[in-house]
Amino acid sequence: AYLDRIERLDGELNSFITVLRAQAQQQAQVIDQKIRQGELQGPLAGIPYALKDLFCTEGILTTCGSKMLANFVSPYDAHVTSQLKAAGGVLLGKNNMDEFAMGSSNENSAYGVVRNPWNTDCVPGGSSGGGAAAIAARLAPMVLGTDTGGSIRQPGSFCGVTGIKPTYGRISRYGMIAFASSLDQCGPMAVSAEDCAITLNVIAGFDERDSTSAQATVPDYTTTLNDSIHGLRIGLPKEFFAAGLDSQVATVIERAVKEFEQLGAVVKEVSLPNAHLAVPVYYVVAPAEASSNLSRFDGVRFGHRCEDPQDLTDLYKRSRWEGFGEEVKRRIMVGTYALSAGYYDAYYLKAQQVRRLIKQDFVDAFKEVDVIMGPSAPTTAFKIGEKADDPVAMYLADIYTIPTSLAGLPGMTFPIGFAADGLPVGMQLIGNYFQEARMLNIAHQYQ
Ligand code: GLN
Repeated sequence: AYLDRIERLDGELNSFITVLRAQAQQQAQVIDQKIRQGELQGPLAGIPYALKDLFCTEGILTTCGSKMLANFVSPYDAHVTSQLKAAGGVLLGKNNMDEFAMGSSNENSAYGVVRNPWNTDCVPGGSSGGGAAAIAARLAPMVLGTDTGGSIRQPGSFCGVTGIKPTYGRISRYGMIAFASSLDQCGPMAVSAEDCAITLNVIAGFDERDSTSAQATVPDYTTTLNDSIHGLRIGLPKEFFAAGLDSQVATVIERAVKEFEQLGAVVKEVSLPNAHLAVPVYYVVAPAEASSNLSRFDGVRFGHRCEDPQDLTDLYKRSRWEGFGEEVKRRIMVGTYALSAGYYDAYYLKAQQVRRLIKQDFVDAFKEVDVIMGPSAPTTAFKIGEKADDPVAMYLADIYTIPTSLAGLPGMTFPIGFAADGLPVGMQLIGNYFQEARMLNIAHQYQ
């Protein structure tokens, strides 16, 4: 049924780069047999899903949304790919995305723009925009995305779906093509918090192949979904409700906050005084790490190689020039500049120091409240092309999600209704470290 929907609807939406029709059907049959013979059980057995096209999948194309990897067939599975395989999931295909996960609109993909199913003139958000659109159009019941500065939460909000970026280190990054390694974290997107919880049960946990993988024990995320939220202390950061927040979005957010009060939560204002520095800090730290991570794409070991190189330097230069898109090149230049001798202290080191202050704001806020709530994005989905020529305007689409990422805290988005323009609005929930179970519980209670 999902494959048929993809065939019928994805011509217009373009949310998949690769659809594995024959392979998925075959896999489903094998799994069905195993379930019948009692060899396979569990909530994901036989459940179809899709992966953002930066998770390595053995024998299957993994493009990362880039021309650079247009011919890259991974020789191994990412940690999460093998976990979902072992649980009996059926891989439908690989989702479209902004090139190397850099973007907030999915317009930076070498495989074309993705359209928002709620209004096909609008972007789905990014960089996990293909996955978010696929969930919204019911082309898959669950997908995995990644979030470096908001790439699960912002497209989740634009497409009216639920998504969670767990605490940094909660899920192994092994086999996930790196963008900014101190920020990258993968997570599920689905139609409900419950489906995210079921998925998290399978993919969370320690993995020795990722040196930043957390040792913390993994709870069963489904058992606390129905806990009462009576007495829950919700903090609303005043900086998230200031200038820059679209008034239509604010109205929907305020209405949902009132509903949480009716469910017994206690709401109070908190302050994140350094939050306004998060976007500038992120655009030093993330490009710096990206410039280093992307140096491996040199035309020798992976992906695109130019024709008839004159010498090694020409090979590097032209392969990278031809393989990378405009935004990726911009980030490599910014990052290389920030890391270069003489500028390192002024930019990279300074950014890391301010990052620490941003984290401290959250530590202080969590002394007063249990969770933080606010908008996932300042607006609803914008029009395709609207911000395409203005990188800074595009960067501001993540103004509310980036602080969480810099602090390594878990963040999620869940749909709370529609703005006056008819487009979905997502509520962002920020929890303390490793509080994913509580966050899923809170979102579940709202739904
Ligand atoms: N939009 C942000 C960026 O372009 C965040 C992307 C992400 O989380 N992968 O870097």
